[in-house]
Amino acid sequence: MTATAAAPETTPTDRLLALWAEIEDLGAASSLAAWDQETCMPPGGAEGRAGVLAALAGVLHQKLCAPELLDAIDAVDAATGDDEVARAQAREARRAVMRARSVPEDLTRALAAATSRALTTWREAREADDFSIFRDDLATVLALTRERGAALGGDAASAYDALLDEYETGATTVRLDELFSGLRAELVPIMQAVADSGVTVDESAAHGSFPVDAQRELGLAVARAMGFDFDAGRLDAAAHPFCSGMNPRDVRLTWRWDETDFRPALLGIMHETGHGLYEQGLPPRWRRTPIGGAVSLGVHESQSRLWENLVGRSRPFWRWALPRFHDTFPAVERRTADDIWRSLNVVSPSLIRVEADEVTYNLHVIARFELEKALVGGDLDVDDLPAAWADTYEDLLGVRPTIAADGVLQDIHWSMGAFGYFPTYTIGNLVAAQLFEAATTAIGAGDLEASFAAGEFGGLLDWLRANVHDAASLHLPDDLVSRATGRPLAPDAFLARVRSICAQQYGV
Ligand code: ZN
Repeated sequence: MTATAAAPETTPTDRLLALWAEIEDLGAASSLAAWDQETCMPPGGAEGRAGVLAALAGVLHQKLCAPELLDAIDAVDAATGDDEVARAQAREARRAVMRARSVPEDLTRALAAATSRALTTWREAREADDFSIFRDDLATVLALTRERGAALGGDAASAYDALLDEYETGATTVRLDELFSGLRAELVPIMQAVADSGVTVDESAAHGSFPVDAQRELGLAVARAMGFDFDAGRLDAAAHPFCSGMNPRDVRLTWRWDETDFRPALLGIMHETGHGLYEQGLPPRWRRTPIGGAVSLGVHESQSRLWENLVGRSRPFWRWALPRFHDTFPAVERRTADDIWRSLNVVSPSLIRVEADEVTYNLHVIARFELEKALVGGDLDVDDLPAAWADTYEDLLGVRPTIAADGVLQDIHWSMGAFGYFPTYTIGNLVAAQLFEAATTAIGAGDLEASFAAGEFGGLLDWLRANVHDAASLHLPDDLVSRATGRPLAPDAFLARVRSICAQQYGV
């Protein structure tokens, strides 16, 4: 009703954006409440917070399903012609609206209740190392998620594709099957060659006594050097590291630490700062609009992995960081940049995804992709999941979990109904390598390395700003990667990188 009362010069796009701004604000309020829950909220606040988040989700859903919003999108589509930005605004708004409209409200509520229960029983099951505690709730979440996928995709056969598309627009089972099988065929022999090399890497440079305050100080200094603006962001402790962007001028990072090993904190902070730089780099001109946010989870993860792995695990970075490292931890034994580099680039198959190295990490993701595809497709029963998990690990990584806590119970995702999410981690790794290769070509390998060694990361950040951050969601993820790198996404840049690490470290 406010839309029809608007001034005569108001365009259809103006009307859409006016309706959309409030949707973005509600999303930001929900993110802030979730951030607070993970960082500052006393345990007693949990029940009240669940109510707040559910209420916000309900209002957000109503706003997305409001008839005037769909009318506004239709009007933009009817009027825009060649205006690329207006068409993209309508495309992204329609995508969110159709998703909200296609899932019945009672299914949404049932899933919210089921995942809330499953999250609790997953924690209990993991603690007790007993899958049977989680089994029934997982089966319920899976059944409802299959129903949800079918509602989103139009039929049961499209359910997994529809779930994938939610996290990564354009990702399909067929495309991922092809991409992942190619990757697997390369990675398994590399892993095998490393195992056969007989080389054991000395990781002692990573171990020692690293006081928490000093680790925080070093992490903040590195985040600042990377270009993170602490007038528009902050760093707090949390059980699980994450990044939450309320808007480009309010980006929250979290971290955790190990006082005997500097790697989790420093690399974790670099990872989350990579996410945070993306959020801070989203263009102010599209703030609170449908295309103003990050384009996909895979591209988001490419930003974190690029800074964590391509910068933080590199020798040029450590030529700059090493004196700071020694100043920060004066009691720790003197090391060379090469000692540190070795400790940061160890390749060894393991059972736990979040602790995996760059070579084997994607095999952990491929295992989950195969299993969840079978679960959602109805080809694998929940009762057979623990054994299927162990078999898949043995097949792909050559290791077999002996307890469920190290196997099927290690990840939170499925308890939350997040089927289709895991592949974005591997997409992120591949995009990161391809973007870094393009940035290196544009800037020049020698200049880029010299800048890292001088603690200057502005050249790389400017390239990412211009080629990734500033586009926000104007283009689809595939188009963004092609435009930034000059070719479609492929695993070769990533494979060249891990081969080089294995050659230097293991002589294979
Ligand atoms: Zn991440």
